[in-house]
Amino acid sequence: MNKEISMLRIILQQMSIAGFRLSAGGFFVPLFELPDWFTQLYQDKFSVYSERDEYFLGVAFPFIENFLFDAEQIWSQAKSEHLQSGLWTEENDKGYEVYLEAIAINAGNEPVLLLTNQTTNFDVRHKVFQAARDLAIKNEHLENAVQLHQRQLQQQLEQLCQHRDSFSELNENIERDSSAVLICRQNGEVEVYNKALIDIYSLRNSIQVKKESLLEKWVNEAERIYPEIHRVLEVGEHWEGEFETTDNINQKKWIRLMIAPVVNDDDKVAHYICIANDISDSKVSMVELERITQVDPTTRLPNRRRFWSYLTEQIEQKKSLGGNLALFYVDLDHFKQINDSLGPEQADFLLSTVANRLKRSLKKHDFVAHLGADEFAVIATEYRDNSVLSTIADRLVKGIYREVSFNEMTLNVSASVGIAVYPQHGSNARQIVKSADYAMYHAKEMGRNQYQLHGPTHISEGIPKLHVEQGMRNALTNEEFELVFQPQICIGTENVYRAEALIRWNHPTLGQLAPDSFIPIAEESNLIIDIGRWVIRAACKELKILTAKNLNVKIGINISPKQFKYSNIAEELVQSISDYAVDPSRLELEVTESAFMEDMDSVVNQLQEVRSLGVSISLDDFGTGYSSLSYLKNLPADLLKIDRSFICELPNSKQSKSIVESLIKLAHELSIQVVAEGVENETQLNYLKGLNCDFFQGYLFHSPLNAAGLLSLYQSLTLKENRLESS
Ligand code: C2E
Ligand code: CA
Ligand code: CA
Repeated sequence: MNKEISMLRIILQQMSIAGFRLSAGGFFVPLFELPDWFTQLYQDKFSVYSERDEYFLGVAFPFIENFLFDAEQIWSQAKSEHLQSGLWTEENDKGYEVYLEAIAINAGNEPVLLLTNQTTNFDVRHKVFQAARDLAIKNEHLENAVQLHQRQLQQQLEQLCQHRDSFSELNENIERDSSAVLICRQNGEVEVYNKALIDIYSLRNSIQVKKESLLEKWVNEAERIYPEIHRVLEVGEHWEGEFETTDNINQKKWIRLMIAPVVNDDDKVAHYICIANDISDSKVSMVELERITQVDPTTRLPNRRRFWSYLTEQIEQKKSLGGNLALFYVDLDHFKQINDSLGPEQADFLLSTVANRLKRSLKKHDFVAHLGADEFAVIATEYRDNSVLSTIADRLVKGIYREVSFNEMTLNVSASVGIAVYPQHGSNARQIVKSADYAMYHAKEMGRNQYQLHGPTHISEGIPKLHVEQGMRNALTNEEFELVFQPQICIGTENVYRAEALIRWNHPTLGQLAPDSFIPIAEESNLIIDIGRWVIRAACKELKILTAKNLNVKIGINISPKQFKYSNIAEELVQSISDYAVDPSRLELEVTESAFMEDMDSVVNQLQEVRSLGVSISLDDFGTGYSSLSYLKNLPADLLKIDRSFICELPNSKQSKSIVESLIKLAHELSIQVVAEGVENETQLNYLKGLNCDFFQGYLFHSPLNAAGLLSLYQSLTLKENRLESS
């Protein structure tokens, strides 16, 4: 035996590891002398000690038997990876518990199983957890008292605040309260505050309170760990949380803050009641422990802090290596009521149960964290494609939705899950969390106990038009509009990069809205003129960014019929093209047939002018209007987009088939290229390929991507091409 191997044996023996080789007969043969703890345990199970060095580990330890199923995967493929079982416990006949972990590896194509004794490690960790737990319980009493006081005070103040213009009488109610109180108007203007507020923030006088705009400061500070705070406040809900703040003399403190909006008669937020308490004393040591363990003491899952660092790390990694990541934001339904009726101990039990259910619904690579209260998060970094996300989310929702039994009763728990994907739904951790939170909120609104993928919401009714109109005016100034981009694919020559720009409205309270929720209203009110101008500029801006990265992309811009009537499209194009210094041949206008309805000559003239700039024209939704085939030859068009309604009926509907066939044929005769819209499956694709359709757009390839998503898609495609070229 060579020297290295004997050295290795000594090392493993010293580490008290039991190592085995799996024999052809299915039993385990020790690789070297077995450690005492192992022979002890094994003898407890089998009174006759194995003489022929044949160990039936699966029979002796049911846990291992389970593990062997997974281990087979690694062994049968002779992969170089290893598989760890996670800790489990065995008890020997003296009642002493040992914590074990199994590791399956391929050692030079030999299936090897290592058993390690983690008892000492576990004890140390266990003690830290225990300390954290004890401290948490102590603090919980304190925190409950603060919480209770804040809630009572807030209810009292809310009643006093409603229908009130002067707040001077409120002073005596709050002046001597131990909690800091600040009541301000919706715009932050201070109405009343008390002495405790001056104390917490080490402020000198009342003038300073008025100048400090504390509400804004709080929201900004809290947002770092609670990105959902804006959304919660904007929909007029209460917000409570704990975060670190700095006072006027730059001292760091932990506060527990409650913000309660007071709504006036016409359902608008008129005031905010803010109540804050300094909880540094109980928090600092707790935070320190959580920092060390990075584990939530109730559920033993990674805590909020660990979650943020993990998410940020993973996103950084994806940024440099490519690939997607999905965040599932899990929020229990009606937890507040459950918590109030159960009491803290039972609620903790419930949270641990949910934590276990979540873990069981997930794969080994998935990361799950407890963010606090009733919020959990799952991060999946290794999954095939986005179609798997709904399967995972479904498993999470179903995994949680079962009864939990307490001593005397059972309760139904359910959860709402929001999903966001990097990079489609945000380019950094905070945006991704925000997007997932919006989606979760959406899932709650849809009736709870379900999941939603982040994406635009379609609102059709319920919101008065006037509201939407006013909202859109604000949206332009507040930069709430965003363009997303849906790639168009050219089979065979994949390095032709084309994408259609589609508008989204990131509404402050309703989340992301789809264009059919607001574009029709914008068209009625002529706001489409301003929005349309914004779209042209935003598309050119994006084009400039892509060009700067050496990506030759062509972007399609949707133009509304109203824009031909009331604005000078050619002039706006000229302006944006020069402002962003973009190549006009990288732009395309998508025009619907309805644009030609009113004044065909004028529209044709305008389009000719646009074309003379070098911008190409595509006829959108073709086939749905009255016009169609006969006068296609009279229109200045470079491209034709066949409407989704025909594509989705392929290849079953005879009528759609013949329309699509003749459209493509005629277009090609006129040297016009064709895009098929809304391609959702392979059958449609194959049929269209047979007809020589030039481009394909649809969910089969990509749903609309945000700017970061588009950029990373094209960057990874160019990388691939370069690799192909150089190899
Ligand atoms: P459109 O121009 O026909 O845009 C295509 C729509 O189909 C997009 O919806 C896109 O997300 C959706 N789509 C793409 N692939 C598929 C698929 O495989 N299956 C299905 N079911 N749908 C697919 P979106 O973004 O909601 O846009 C809806 C309409 O809003 C657009 O229809 C367009 O008429 C209008 N619009 C969008 N952006 C703008 C804009 O910037 N200006 C103007 N004036 N109108 C816009
Ligand atoms: Ca379009
Ligand atoms: Ca279309």
